[in-house]
Amino acid sequence: MNIARNTLKEYSLRQTGCREDILNAFTSHEYALSHSDLENQLGERFDRVTIYRTLKTFVDKGILHKVLDDVGGTKYALCRTSECSHEEHHHDHVHFKCTTCGNTTCIESIHIPTINLPQGYVRKEVNMLVQGVCPNCN
Ligand SMILES: [Zn+2]
Ligand SMILES: [Zn+2]
Ligand SMILES: [Zn+2]
Repeated sequence: MNIARNTLKEYSLRQTGCREDILNAFTSHEYALSHSDLENQLGERFDRVTIYRTLKTFVDKGILHKVLDDVGGTKYALCRTSECSHEEHHHDHVHFKCTTCGNTTCIESIHIPTINLPQGYVRKEVNMLVQGVCPNCN
């Protein structure tokens, strides 16, 4: 029994090769992965649409969360909290992007401070991206 299979079972998702491979890609990396990172890693085995749908399913289920990247792309990272569930993510941690290697990491120990918006503004989600040099490149 590998981690990917366990996770799929836990979230009552049907086992497919694509789901398994994508989960394995995330559990074997410390940093967030973009759609094209996954395409490069998984090679030609799955088409773009299948990868896209799988990512969406994982985000909807609370397995992955989106990480906004400075170049306008979206990356994805594993939810390492049991508080994420179907359609509801509870993240208030900071993301760190290394400008040398380009990797984006979840810094779960640092929380985004509370932001009080002016009246009339409704907050939906807050993202904080810190850029700099990671320990591997330092
Ligand atoms: Zn989450
Ligand atoms: Zn780095
Ligand atoms: Zn994160």
